[in-house]
Amino acid sequence: MSPAARKKPTSASSLKATDLCLAAAGLARSEHGRKTRPVTGARPVRDTRPNRDSRFERNVPDELHTPAPVPLRAANGAEWLPIPGWDLPWLWAGFSTRKGGLSRAYCPEDAPGELNLGLTSADDRETVLRNRRLLVEAVTSNPATPLIVLRQFHSNRIVHTAAPSTASDASRAQPHKADGQITAEPGLLLAIQTADCIPVLVADKKQRVVAAFHAGWRGTVRRIVESGVGSMRLAFCSRPQDLIAAIGPGIGLCCYAVGEEVLSEFESQFSYARDLFREVYDSDPVRKKYPMLFLTQRAPGHSPIGPSLHVDLIEANRRQLLSAGLSPQSIQIVGGCTQCHTDLFFSHRASHGHAGRMMAVIGIREARKQRYTR
Ligand SMILES: [Zn+2]
Repeated sequence: MSPAARKKPTSASSLKATDLCLAAAGLARSEHGRKTRPVTGARPVRDTRPNRDSRFERNVPDELHTPAPVPLRAANGAEWLPIPGWDLPWLWAGFSTRKGGLSRAYCPEDAPGELNLGLTSADDRETVLRNRRLLVEAVTSNPATPLIVLRQFHSNRIVHTAAPSTASDASRAQPHKADGQITAEPGLLLAIQTADCIPVLVADKKQRVVAAFHAGWRGTVRRIVESGVGSMRLAFCSRPQDLIAAIGPGIGLCCYAVGEEVLSEFESQFSYARDLFREVYDSDPVRKKYPMLFLTQRAPGHSPIGPSLHVDLIEANRRQLLSAGLSPQSIQIVGGCTQCHTDLFFSHRASHGHAGRMMAVIGIREARKQRYTR
């Protein structure tokens, strides 16, 4: 569990009790050159600037929370997130939520079924396959559209996906081991599975090429999105000015506490690495006013108290899209932190590993008859 998740807010009454306790012991706080504040009415001052004791911009979690997007409910009950502004008639694209569907593996007994789309050990395979058809139908209007999944392993490996020649080929095929896929073939729905990692979808409006990438922190450090756009340029002559991208729901800066090793990896790869990190302080007023009571000798991010180091994977992937030549206006951030909004999303961290999977999907609408219909 992350340090941030372990900490519980302490009420103002705890601060007052601590004030009184220290005052009774003759230890009321007095800062150099300042008058001691009265015990009642003391308010901590907000200052987000880094000082000589903090390496990064500082925040409390409440300042970093983002609102959840509002899903669209399909006729079959599946709730998913279309991408604002992506109304191209040839393009299918969107992000699933956990709502709708038939899974019972990750919800209380009396709750409605859920849209788990991952073949996890806790869920029933047939139920997951039926859920997948619900999402495919919601996005493409045809539950038989082939859904192409990958065996993801936090790499920067990208495959070029071709249409299966028959429907039985599509159902028998072993998923490719990769974390990104690209296709120019109509009639396929490319999928990336996530439950905290960041899904990124890219479409070439001119060449009609689509791509889906899985970017957890490891894939992000390995530049999967940047190299994915490079593959589109190389294989399909895509031009960055013709590309649009959407960054889907994942664990947000508000919640994604990481260790120093993640900072080191980012610093080894990106000149802008330090812009992606924040020191997040507990909003506990006692800790703020009396930090000396909570000192430890551990590095930030490793202590159960004090600031934790958070990384912004959404901004990291937005930067990669910009580095690849996309304009800021062509990048949509769908938003929604998976750990904050567990009513809407599956979160691996929030549920300590016992989580379903969501999907980001993208495809080219098929103008012709299905190629494997005989
Ligand atoms: Zn969050």
